[in-house]
Amino acid sequence: MHKKSVLRRSFFSFTVLAVGLMCSILYQTVDVFDDKSRVIKKIPTTHKVVAITVDDGPHYKTTPEILMVLKEKQAKATFFVLGKNAEVHPEIVAQTVAEGHEIASHAYSHRRLNRLTDAEVVDELERLELVLQPVAPKPTLFRPPDGAYNDGIVALARERGYTTVLWSVDTGDWRQLPVERVVKAVLDNVQPGSIILMHDGQYPLPTPQAMSIIIDKLRAQGYQLVTVSELLQYYEVSR
Ligand SMILES: [Zn+2]
Repeated sequence: MHKKSVLRRSFFSFTVLAVGLMCSILYQTVDVFDDKSRVIKKIPTTHKVVAITVDDGPHYKTTPEILMVLKEKQAKATFFVLGKNAEVHPEIVAQTVAEGHEIASHAYSHRRLNRLTDAEVVDELERLELVLQPVAPKPTLFRPPDGAYNDGIVALARERGYTTVLWSVDTGDWRQLPVERVVKAVLDNVQPGSIILMHDGQYPLPTPQAMSIIIDKLRAQGYQLVTVSELLQYYEVSR
Protein backbone atom coordinates (compact mmCIF):
# COMPACT_ATOMS: atom_id res chain seq x y z
CA MET A 1 0.00 0.00 0.00
CA HIS A 2 2.78 2.38 1.03
CA LYS A 3 4.88 1.41 -1.96
CA LYS A 4 1.92 2.00 -4.21
CA SER A 5 1.37 5.52 -2.90
CA VAL A 6 5.08 6.37 -3.39
CA LEU A 7 4.81 5.08 -6.94
CA ARG A 8 1.66 7.07 -7.49
CA ARG A 9 3.31 10.16 -6.07
CA SER A 10 6.40 9.82 -8.28
CA PHE A 11 4.18 9.26 -11.30
CA PHE A 12 2.33 12.44 -10.35
CA SER A 13 5.60 14.45 -10.04
CA PHE A 14 6.74 13.07 -13.38
CA THR A 15 3.47 14.15 -15.00
CA VAL A 16 3.72 17.63 -13.48
CA LEU A 17 7.31 17.91 -14.75
CA ALA A 18 6.40 16.69 -18.23
CA VAL A 19 3.43 19.06 -18.51
CA GLY A 20 5.61 21.93 -17.25
CA LEU A 21 8.26 21.15 -19.83
CA MET A 22 5.70 20.97 -22.62
CA CYS A 23 4.26 24.32 -21.58
CA SER A 24 7.68 25.96 -21.53
CA ILE A 25 8.34 24.62 -25.02
CA LEU A 26 4.96 25.89 -26.17
CA TYR A 27 5.61 29.40 -24.91
CA GLN A 28 9.25 29.50 -25.85
CA THR A 29 10.15 32.25 -28.26
CA VAL A 30 13.44 32.83 -29.97
CA ASP A 31 15.27 36.08 -29.44
CA VAL A 32 14.17 37.69 -32.65
CA PHE A 33 12.08 35.92 -35.24
CA ASP A 34 10.85 32.42 -34.69
CA ASP A 35 11.01 31.39 -38.33
CA LYS A 36 8.19 28.93 -38.00
CA SER A 37 5.73 31.20 -36.26
CA ARG A 38 7.27 34.61 -37.05
CA VAL A 39 6.87 36.08 -33.59
CA ILE A 40 8.84 39.23 -32.78
CA LYS A 41 10.35 39.68 -29.37
CA LYS A 42 13.00 42.24 -30.20
CA ILE A 43 14.80 43.55 -33.25
CA PRO A 44 18.42 42.90 -34.21
CA THR A 45 19.87 46.35 -34.82
CA THR A 46 22.98 48.37 -34.16
CA HIS A 47 20.88 51.54 -33.77
CA LYS A 48 20.00 52.66 -30.26
CA VAL A 49 16.25 52.45 -30.76
CA VAL A 50 13.67 50.92 -28.41
CA ALA A 51 9.88 50.69 -28.29
CA ILE A 52 7.73 51.17 -25.21
CA THR A 53 4.52 49.14 -25.42
CA VAL A 54 1.47 49.50 -23.17
CA ASP A 55 -1.05 46.65 -22.80
CA ASP A 56 -4.64 46.14 -21.60
CA GLY A 57 -6.10 49.66 -21.79
CA PRO A 58 -7.56 52.04 -22.31
CA HIS A 59 -8.27 52.79 -18.64
CA TYR A 60 -10.05 56.06 -17.89
CA LYS A 61 -7.47 57.15 -15.29
CA THR A 62 -4.19 55.41 -16.10
CA THR A 63 -4.15 55.92 -19.87
CA PRO A 64 -4.62 59.73 -19.80
CA GLU A 65 -1.82 59.93 -17.20
CA ILE A 66 0.48 57.96 -19.50
CA LEU A 67 -0.52 60.11 -22.49
CA MET A 68 0.33 63.20 -20.47
CA VAL A 69 3.81 61.85 -19.68
CA LEU A 70 4.42 60.93 -23.33
CA LYS A 71 3.28 64.38 -24.48
CA GLU A 72 5.48 66.13 -21.95
CA LYS A 73 8.48 64.04 -23.02
CA GLN A 74 7.54 64.18 -26.73
CA ALA A 75 7.90 60.41 -26.95
CA LYS A 76 5.85 57.87 -28.91
CA ALA A 77 4.58 54.50 -27.67
CA THR A 78 2.52 51.58 -28.94
CA PHE A 79 -0.74 50.73 -27.18
CA PHE A 80 -1.97 47.14 -27.43
CA VAL A 81 -5.59 47.88 -26.60
CA LEU A 82 -8.23 45.48 -25.40
CA GLY A 83 -11.51 45.52 -27.33
CA LYS A 84 -13.75 45.47 -24.27
CA ASN A 85 -11.97 48.52 -22.83
CA ALA A 86 -11.73 50.39 -26.14
CA GLU A 87 -15.48 49.88 -26.48
CA VAL A 88 -16.09 51.74 -23.21
CA HIS A 89 -13.53 54.50 -23.92
CA PRO A 90 -13.25 55.04 -27.68
CA GLU A 91 -12.50 58.72 -26.99
CA ILE A 92 -9.25 57.74 -25.24
CA VAL A 93 -8.26 55.59 -28.22
CA ALA A 94 -9.01 58.54 -30.52
CA GLN A 95 -6.87 60.82 -28.33
CA THR A 96 -4.03 58.27 -28.39
CA VAL A 97 -4.14 58.23 -32.20
CA ALA A 98 -4.37 62.04 -32.41
CA GLU A 99 -1.26 62.35 -30.26
CA GLY A 100 0.76 60.25 -32.70
CA HIS A 101 0.95 56.89 -30.95
CA GLU A 102 0.42 53.50 -32.52
CA ILE A 103 -2.70 51.45 -31.74
CA ALA A 104 -2.23 47.68 -31.87
CA SER A 105 -4.44 44.67 -31.12
CA HIS A 106 -4.55 42.80 -27.81
CA ALA A 107 -7.75 41.05 -28.95
CA TYR A 108 -11.20 41.67 -27.47
CA SER A 109 -11.57 40.09 -24.04
CA HIS A 110 -8.12 38.96 -22.80
CA ARG A 111 -9.08 35.30 -22.99
CA ARG A 112 -6.12 32.95 -23.51
CA LEU A 113 -6.35 32.34 -27.23
CA ASN A 114 -4.59 28.97 -27.14
CA ARG A 115 -7.64 27.58 -25.34
CA LEU A 116 -10.06 28.73 -28.04
CA THR A 117 -11.16 27.33 -31.38
CA ASP A 118 -9.94 28.98 -34.60
CA ALA A 119 -13.37 30.58 -35.08
CA GLU A 120 -13.26 32.01 -31.55
CA VAL A 121 -9.74 33.40 -32.13
CA VAL A 122 -10.88 35.11 -35.33
CA ASP A 123 -13.90 36.47 -33.46
CA GLU A 124 -11.62 37.92 -30.76
CA LEU A 125 -9.57 39.73 -33.45
CA GLU A 126 -12.60 40.88 -35.45
CA ARG A 127 -14.55 42.23 -32.49
CA LEU A 128 -11.67 44.53 -31.60
CA GLU A 129 -11.34 45.64 -35.24
CA LEU A 130 -15.01 46.64 -35.26
CA VAL A 131 -14.59 48.65 -32.05
CA LEU A 132 -11.51 50.42 -33.42
CA GLN A 133 -12.89 51.11 -36.89
CA PRO A 134 -14.44 54.54 -36.11
CA VAL A 135 -11.50 55.81 -34.03
CA ALA A 136 -8.20 54.31 -35.25
CA PRO A 137 -6.48 52.95 -38.35
CA LYS A 138 -6.66 49.15 -38.75
CA PRO A 139 -3.85 47.82 -36.54
CA THR A 140 -1.06 45.76 -38.11
CA LEU A 141 0.46 44.46 -34.87
CA PHE A 142 -1.02 41.89 -32.52
CA ARG A 143 0.01 40.73 -29.06
CA PRO A 144 -1.77 37.64 -27.71
CA PRO A 145 -3.05 38.05 -24.12
CA ASP A 146 -0.56 36.68 -21.56
CA GLY A 147 1.80 36.03 -24.47
CA ALA A 148 0.04 32.69 -24.95
CA TYR A 149 0.19 31.66 -28.58
CA ASN A 150 0.80 28.75 -30.92
CA ASP A 151 1.58 28.45 -34.62
CA GLY A 152 -2.12 28.31 -35.50
CA ILE A 153 -2.88 31.60 -33.72
CA VAL A 154 0.08 33.33 -35.36
CA ALA A 155 -1.04 32.03 -38.78
CA LEU A 156 -4.63 33.22 -38.23
CA ALA A 157 -3.35 36.64 -37.15
CA ARG A 158 -1.05 36.82 -40.20
CA GLU A 159 -3.97 35.99 -42.52
CA ARG A 160 -5.74 39.04 -41.09
CA GLY A 161 -2.69 41.25 -41.72
CA TYR A 162 -1.08 41.15 -38.29
CA THR A 163 2.52 40.68 -37.21
CA THR A 164 2.61 39.00 -33.79
CA VAL A 165 4.71 40.96 -31.29
CA LEU A 166 5.78 39.90 -27.80
CA TRP A 167 8.44 41.71 -25.74
CA SER A 168 12.04 41.39 -24.55
CA VAL A 169 11.93 43.56 -21.39
CA ASP A 170 9.20 42.78 -18.85
CA THR A 171 8.80 45.61 -16.31
CA GLY A 172 6.39 43.78 -13.98
CA ASP A 173 4.51 47.08 -13.57
CA TRP A 174 1.09 45.37 -13.50
CA ARG A 175 2.08 43.73 -10.20
CA GLN A 176 2.16 47.27 -8.77
CA LEU A 177 5.89 47.13 -8.03
CA PRO A 178 7.54 50.25 -6.64
CA VAL A 179 8.48 52.79 -9.33
CA GLU A 180 12.23 52.16 -8.80
CA ARG A 181 11.84 48.44 -9.49
CA VAL A 182 10.00 49.11 -12.74
CA VAL A 183 12.72 51.57 -13.82
CA LYS A 184 15.48 49.12 -12.82
CA ALA A 185 13.90 46.28 -14.81
CA VAL A 186 14.28 48.41 -17.93
CA LEU A 187 17.75 49.82 -17.24
CA ASP A 188 19.16 46.38 -16.35
CA ASN A 189 17.85 44.72 -19.50
CA VAL A 190 17.55 47.27 -22.27
CA GLN A 191 19.46 46.76 -25.52
CA PRO A 192 19.23 48.27 -29.01
CA GLY A 193 16.02 46.90 -30.53
CA SER A 194 14.31 46.08 -27.20
CA ILE A 195 10.55 45.96 -26.89
CA ILE A 196 9.52 47.08 -23.38
CA LEU A 197 6.32 45.73 -21.82
CA MET A 198 4.21 48.05 -19.64
CA HIS A 199 0.49 48.19 -18.77
CA ASP A 200 -2.43 50.60 -18.42
CA GLY A 201 -5.36 48.32 -17.68
CA GLN A 202 -5.82 49.13 -13.98
CA TYR A 203 -5.40 51.88 -11.40
CA PRO A 204 -3.23 52.71 -9.58
CA LEU A 205 -0.08 51.58 -11.37
CA PRO A 206 3.53 52.76 -11.03
CA THR A 207 3.61 52.98 -14.83
CA PRO A 208 3.14 56.73 -15.58
CA GLN A 209 5.76 57.81 -13.06
CA ALA A 210 8.17 55.01 -14.02
CA MET A 211 7.74 55.76 -17.72
CA SER A 212 8.69 59.38 -17.21
CA ILE A 213 11.96 58.35 -15.51
CA ILE A 214 12.63 55.55 -18.02
CA ILE A 215 12.31 57.94 -20.98
CA ASP A 216 14.81 60.39 -19.44
CA LYS A 217 17.29 57.66 -18.50
CA LEU A 218 17.11 55.95 -21.89
CA ARG A 219 17.60 59.23 -23.73
CA ALA A 220 20.58 60.03 -21.49
CA GLN A 221 22.07 56.73 -22.74
CA GLY A 222 21.50 57.82 -26.34
CA TYR A 223 18.35 55.79 -27.01
CA GLN A 224 15.59 56.95 -29.31
CA LEU A 225 12.01 55.93 -28.49
CA VAL A 226 9.91 54.79 -31.43
CA THR A 227 6.70 52.90 -32.08
CA VAL A 228 6.92 49.16 -32.79
CA SER A 229 6.14 49.69 -36.49
CA GLU A 230 8.98 52.22 -36.67
CA LEU A 231 11.23 49.80 -34.78
CA LEU A 232 10.64 47.15 -37.46
CA GLN A 233 12.27 49.50 -39.99
CA TYR A 234 15.54 49.14 -38.09
CA TYR A 235 15.63 45.37 -38.49
CA GLU A 236 19.14 44.42 -39.63
CA VAL A 237 19.88 41.01 -41.02
CA SER A 238 23.36 39.85 -40.05
CA ARG A 239 25.43 38.32 -42.81
ZN1 LIG B 1 -2.62 41.75 -21.44
